[in-house]
Amino acid sequence: MNEAARYSLYPMHKLRRVDNPTVRIFADIEQVREDENGYNRAVRGDFGSVVQRERARFCSKYPLGAVLRGFGSKLAPLMEGEPAKQRAPIPASPGVMSEHIKRVGYFLRADMVGICRVPPYAVYGHDSHGREIDLKHKYAILVVIDQDYDTMHRSSGSDWISGSQSHLGYSFAAVTACMISDYIRRLGYPARAHYARDYQVLIPPLLLWAGIGEHCRMGDSVLNPFLGARFKAAAVTTDLPLEPDRPIDFGLQSFCDQCGRCAEECPSKAIPMGGKTIYNGREVWKLDEERCTRFRLTNQRGSSCGRCIKVCPWNKPHGPLHSAARFVARTAPALDGLMVKMDKVFYPEKKNPAPWWFDLEERDGALVVPRSSGAVWAEPGS
Ligand code: SF4
Ligand code: SF4
Repeated sequence: MNEAARYSLYPMHKLRRVDNPTVRIFADIEQVREDENGYNRAVRGDFGSVVQRERARFCSKYPLGAVLRGFGSKLAPLMEGEPAKQRAPIPASPGVMSEHIKRVGYFLRADMVGICRVPPYAVYGHDSHGREIDLKHKYAILVVIDQDYDTMHRSSGSDWISGSQSHLGYSFAAVTACMISDYIRRLGYPARAHYARDYQVLIPPLLLWAGIGEHCRMGDSVLNPFLGARFKAAAVTTDLPLEPDRPIDFGLQSFCDQCGRCAEECPSKAIPMGGKTIYNGREVWKLDEERCTRFRLTNQRGSSCGRCIKVCPWNKPHGPLHSAARFVARTAPALDGLMVKMDKVFYPEKKNPAPWWFDLEERDGALVVPRSSGAVWAEPGS
């Protein structure tokens, strides 16, 4: 076991490591543009005026989400900058520095940290403003933040807390990534953080190469065997010499083949029920990004959506019982179908514990109880 692994709650060092991500690649993968993703297209009005209007208030619609998102956007001064003129007297060994940087990540409260080389296709061709990107950093450090199991367990996945669960992960991953990038620059090496405010790299392929998870049916989401897809990640790219991790294989491709629960439960039917398709050189389950983006932005019964993440059988708390179930799922593909059935029996819907949050919605500058809310709580003095 490497030294840094001791500081993670999750035994990632016990997983099977492989040379390449488990997604099959058939041809060269082309660079994509960040300004063509669903959220940026919604801003431009590509999905119509209703989606465009709802996009403008998406982050401030729920007060806790507005707090988290506003906090994350204040980190820009730490994101990039010039490295110190003189390099610090630190070990030259990439292995030692990888251990050190992971240890820094855990010290700064990351839930997982992984390292990979940056493949050319993981760099966006153009940023969210349409400007050409010229990023040559060799390595990426991936910082993973859990979105909180207890909240996910109480939530439907598409209710008023749903947006805040995402903003929590994005914002705290951004804090840790920005601090790591600032630290590396102080050591005298170039580094840039990439997070929800301004990406120059695609996070999912980097997560695959850094051994954080496997590609899953939810599309370009990456699923981790201990967190499911209940996390957000940010990256730091750098030329500090590092030793990359290797991708993992925990049998997810066969499990997702048998399961399909995210597709059954997706309110917008954006997740495919059937097999994979070839898309941009890779064999993947292809999410209908427009359907998903439309639903998340215009959901009138909540602040966003992560229903697929909530219902996934891998979204379970850390502990001995679920560790045993995860071990069976990882090592006995013949039992995948049975595991899916057992999950439905032990985790039936409509049995969620009571929420701890209030249903609130910002309308015309004031917080009101949303029209769709089924929540009832005692008014002060009643
Ligand atoms: S986030 Fe919601 S709408 Fe989008 S794929 Fe997941 S369940 Fe479907
Ligand atoms: S819900 Fe099932 S099919 Fe969907 S990502 Fe999770 S394991 Fe795969």
